[in-house]
Amino acid sequence: MKKIAVFTSGGDAPGMNACIRAVVRTGIYHQIEVMGILNGYEGMIDNAFVSMNEKSVSNIIQRGGTILKTARSQRFLQPEGRKKAIENLKAHQIEGIVAIGGDGTFRGALALSEQCHIPVIGCPGTIDNDLVGTDFTIGYDTAINTVIEAVDKIRDTAESHNRLFVVEVMGRDAGLIALRSGIGAGAEAILIPELKSDMNEMLDKLEKGRKDKSSKIILVAEGDESGGAYKVMDAIKQKFGSTYDIRVSVLGHIQRGGSPSCIERVNASRMGHAAVKALLQGRSNVMVGIINGCITHTPFEKAVKHIVEIKADLKELAEILSI
Ligand code: ATP
Repeated sequence: MKKIAVFTSGGDAPGMNACIRAVVRTGIYHQIEVMGILNGYEGMIDNAFVSMNEKSVSNIIQRGGTILKTARSQRFLQPEGRKKAIENLKAHQIEGIVAIGGDGTFRGALALSEQCHIPVIGCPGTIDNDLVGTDFTIGYDTAINTVIEAVDKIRDTAESHNRLFVVEVMGRDAGLIALRSGIGAGAEAILIPELKSDMNEMLDKLEKGRKDKSSKIILVAEGDESGGAYKVMDAIKQKFGSTYDIRVSVLGHIQRGGSPSCIERVNASRMGHAAVKALLQGRSNVMVGIINGCITHTPFEKAVKHIVEIKADLKELAEILSI
């Protein structure tokens, strides 16, 4: 293998730069030429290929976002768009691809493989941690640390004013950000899409729970069936009237930014390195991941299945510690 390409796609996530750096430097170590593709699949269609060397990834391991930019591409969903992308890949003599992104990015890679035979290896880059085949996705650790830092600050003001805060965090389909950061920040209740009856349980808990707490934090994932933080506030007001002085805080895009944590940088570097090695081993259409500390390879078809289980012990822990 003489020449490979790397790109980031879907939502950006802290740690993507560390992964790009590892791909580029591992490639160079193995005498492989590395090109970056700007703006994900959009750039693949628009021929936005750039040559990369060891210097082009200097001083980026600590930076959030992605130096290769990212995008969601409608055109790549169509066979015509993919045909154009393939023409560009072939024109640049690309023999292997490292795709850093989430489930959509890997679905795109599968669609690509139906029209051409360039091997693709995925690195899980999404703050949601919703991919099968890895304990942690790139971006997740930093995102949950950002959330607990924000919730700690909200707790200070909630405590001073005896308020109840409903805090909404990212997670359209997955509640792992809410669950882990909720445990980490000592939230009184956590509402996530994976657990259907949690709104009623939360209202019940407010009714029966301790009345001597001067602040309460309820963490809700944006994709929870309650409909989000404002709906949760309405439901509490409807049931308890003016008992609680309620405020809502939607954390939004701050969860995507910021300098990646140390664990993130190391995991992302390991996965970028493993992706290039997987290409050299002749693998294709697999996502590299880390399970129990070891590098793994999971077929894209399995990785995108969205069947990440909510561990019962975490749910129980959240319940027990929030009394
Ligand atoms: P995140 O988890 O952060 O949202 P993602 O990789 O899941 O990241 P998506 O926007 O879902 O982000 O997917 C990225 C891109 O992959 C899409 O914009 C689209 O161009 C491409 N893609 C997704 N699904 C398909 C598909 N079935 N066929 C072809 N391309 C696809």
